[in-house]
Amino acid sequence: MQLDSFDVVVVGTGFFGAVIAEQVASQLGRSVCVLDRRPHIGGNAYSEADSDSGVEVHRYGTHIFHTNSETVWRYLHRFTEFTDYRHRVFTVAKGRVYSMPINLSTVCAAFGRIMTPQQARAAIAAEAEAHGVAGVHNLEDKAIASVGRTLYDLLIRGYTQKQWQTDPRELSADIIGRLPVRFSFDDRYFADRHEGMPVDGYTAIFRRMLDHPKISVQLGVDYFDVADQITPQQLVIYTGPIDRFFGYACGHLGWRTVDFEREVHDVADFQGASVINYADEDVPFTRIHEFRHLHPERAHTQARTTIYREYSRFARREDEPYYPINTAADRAMLASYHAMTSSHPNVIFGGRLGSYKYLDMHQAIGAALKTFEHEVEPILGGQPAELREVRDANLSLQPA
Ligand code: FAD
Ligand code: UDP
Repeated sequence: MQLDSFDVVVVGTGFFGAVIAEQVASQLGRSVCVLDRRPHIGGNAYSEADSDSGVEVHRYGTHIFHTNSETVWRYLHRFTEFTDYRHRVFTVAKGRVYSMPINLSTVCAAFGRIMTPQQARAAIAAEAEAHGVAGVHNLEDKAIASVGRTLYDLLIRGYTQKQWQTDPRELSADIIGRLPVRFSFDDRYFADRHEGMPVDGYTAIFRRMLDHPKISVQLGVDYFDVADQITPQQLVIYTGPIDRFFGYACGHLGWRTVDFEREVHDVADFQGASVINYADEDVPFTRIHEFRHLHPERAHTQARTTIYREYSRFARREDEPYYPINTAADRAMLASYHAMTSSHPNVIFGGRLGSYKYLDMHQAIGAALKTFEHEVEPILGGQPAELREVRDANLSLQPA
């Protein structure tokens, strides 16, 4: 493979990399080589048919598409239709099952009585006041301020402790901000205007995006094994971990990883829902995924189902990074890496690993479309000679 014959090299076939590659090829007619060190396209959104049950599984955990962005929704419709799937999650705690995210049904079940929305608010407000924290300092304070002590102890503390292996009082309040609290019986997990599952699965989206005569896909190739072939005139879109790009010169950014334990059961339905969380600290896994429920519209002919039990832990260097931990030390390290990017003017960093940000799929796609419009297109918009000029000008602008 000769990398130097391509206008653009994209590192990573996840949503960020795939969208940029698709746009460069279809909008600008430029040649792109997309590399991935994994043997498949799609990054963490990759899905495949399980060899034993035939059910489409998400190898890196259940992925539900949801967005409020019309731009992203319209863009993806060029590559797939969506089903009308609506995600609903349940949590098992102390021998009972509760609706999650916390809604009026959860509050009534936890307090053991029927409550109106006003009564539920008042019960939670009284507990929050008794906790007596002025201002929100950490995940525990934020959670108790919004759901009270009873629900926090039952559904949040143990789950969060297992998920992060960190005392919730030492975790950032932002983490829990992703989880809504509702004083109605609306039990949908997501409240976005658009939600659904891609009709033919996620991998089909990537296949269609990357199916262009100007795009060449190279799988099982680590960028750092071929980086010496890249010339300064080529544009590189790097969606791998930013600390690895710089040889961990400023240290390792903290990530959490998850391990999945796969089981195939000879039953048509194992648990009755796509995802069930386990809040108790003495249950070692955080949740069980059962993928067949993501596509109730499909005729699943076998009385067999595949489940994944999910276990959470800190990532070591050789593990797949999943969720940025984002401590104050991580943020300082990230700032040092950002300062180092100016010495690589032909490289654009993006995606969840390249930006060290938790991004949902619609956010990764939205960010890639913006990066294409504001950074990639202005550079590549002209002829190859102009590209060289812009690149050279950028290089000469860099401090010595
Ligand atoms: P990725 O998908 O991670 O792609 C990066 C790619 O770069 C990878 O394929 C990697 O192999 C490749 N790469 C890295 N380094 C190199 C290298 N040196 N050389 C070559 N290739 C390299 N989002 C939702 O919207 N809904 C959900 O329900 C949802 N569930 C999730 C559940 C879990 C457990 C996790 C972890 C994430 C979930 N997400 C969900 C987020 C979603 O996975 C991300 O938005 C998406 O993966 C971001 O795409 P990306 O291209 O930035 O990164
Ligand atoms: N959370 C919890 N109990 C649950 C689900 C979530 O305590 O049953 C908390 C936990 O701290 C988690 C945060 O809410 O880290 C965000 O939840 P989300 O579902 O967004 O986490 P993800 O599925 O992305 O890991």
